[in-house]
Amino acid sequence: MKAQYDVIIAGAGPAGSAAAIRAAEAGLSVLLLEKRQEIGVPVRCGEATDVKTPLRFMPFDPRWLHNRIDHFAVYNAQGERVVVPPSSETIIVDRRVFDQALANQASALGADVYASSTVIGLLHDEHGTVCGVRLKQFGTERAVRARLVIAADGTESQVARWAGLKTIPPLADYYTGIQFLLGNLRGRIDPRICEYHIGVESLAPGGYLWVFPKSGDTANVGVVIAADRARPISARAWLERFVARRCPGASILSVMAGGIPITGALKRMTTDGLMAVGDAAHQADPLTAGGIGLGMIGAEMAMQVAAPALQAGDVSARRLQAYERLWRDQFGRMHAALYNMRRILTRMTETHFDALVRTAAAMPLETMSLPDIVVGLLKNHPGLLLEARTLVSTGLLLK
Ligand SMILES: Cc1cc2nc3c(=O)[nH]c(=O)nc-3n(C[C@H](O)[C@H](O)[C@H](O)COP(=O)(O)OP(=O)(O)OC[C@H]3O[C@@H](n4cnc5c(N)ncnc54)[C@H](O)[C@@H]3O)c2cc1C
Repeated sequence: MKAQYDVIIAGAGPAGSAAAIRAAEAGLSVLLLEKRQEIGVPVRCGEATDVKTPLRFMPFDPRWLHNRIDHFAVYNAQGERVVVPPSSETIIVDRRVFDQALANQASALGADVYASSTVIGLLHDEHGTVCGVRLKQFGTERAVRARLVIAADGTESQVARWAGLKTIPPLADYYTGIQFLLGNLRGRIDPRICEYHIGVESLAPGGYLWVFPKSGDTANVGVVIAADRARPISARAWLERFVARRCPGASILSVMAGGIPITGALKRMTTDGLMAVGDAAHQADPLTAGGIGLGMIGAEMAMQVAAPALQAGDVSARRLQAYERLWRDQFGRMHAALYNMRRILTRMTETHFDALVRTAAAMPLETMSLPDIVVGLLKNHPGLLLEARTLVSTGLLLK
């Protein structure tokens, strides 16, 4: 490890490794630090993602592909469902192999990559600009200087917080989740369909359950609920109830728990000498909480601004804020709409949602445009008009 780098990245998840790849491609010297002993482990993810985004960063490798998905099915609490094709090609990855392949790609491009290396503090220069990190590696502490630090340390980001960014979400905008990897599912799942189960009263308050097939007989089956509704019934209890009903007799091969902010991206993702990307910047989809691809795109945008800023010798917040504008231009309106959709779904009674699914299930969705679908739903559920106003104002219906 050198004493100084152009860019130091804290966290080797998809966002951190994507930032390292783009920084190394720009000819910058890069240090990628990961606190876990093994990059990608333990997996805290349903592992569903679009295929296009990762392929912009690394070549396809069948070792990180578990399964290809043809359709999404949205179920109500009565078991009725709407089946739609994904808007982009969707796969289930093996996050352990996937995350390591991304870090390996960064390394192949020249980045120095170290696991078991925790960032424990930031260095500041005499003007207060971030200029490096303190880290702990194999029990030894050291300081390494950098012209720019990237906080890619995930949902509980401390690095961004140390730099003064407001990363703690309100409880209502935080999903708390738990997932089982289930086995012995042959004949009980369709390996080509990702299932979402929604029922605010009887399935998952403020969230949803999922069944993401990894193969013909295994699946990631999990739940997220809004953290402010995690009492008196815990996320684990909701998941156990669902599994007992949906796939009794399945074996539990592994268990993981985790949380994810669903506020939409932070307004401020930069300070002098530091940028936050991925979950550390709340870039996950505020409805589904999918954050693999979005974190990678966020990292790419950050480096798009950072590389010329470094070349110009100006890493002031003022200059780096161009990254926040880039993000807002591409995702701002859409994410505001998704955020509002989640709030509407959370407020809606379960009976109302059940009826919506029933109506949609009777429509030829595969042949309809989004506005036609919305009009079709409104005809049958005029009460939605009031709620739809919020969506119009945030642009979803205009797209
Ligand atoms: C239950 C659950 C299910 C999910 N399912 C999906 C899904 O199916 N599809 C999807 O797209 N998204 C899903 N997500 C969200 C997705 O996992 C995240 O959005 C994605 O991992 C974000 O990538 P990231 O690189 O920002 O953060 P992470 O993947 O969390 O990576 C951050 C890394 O930083 C490391 N780190 C933390 N602190 C330090 C430090 N001080 N020093 C060095 N390293 C540090 C961590 O160990 C970690 O490896 C799910 C999340 C949860 C909780």
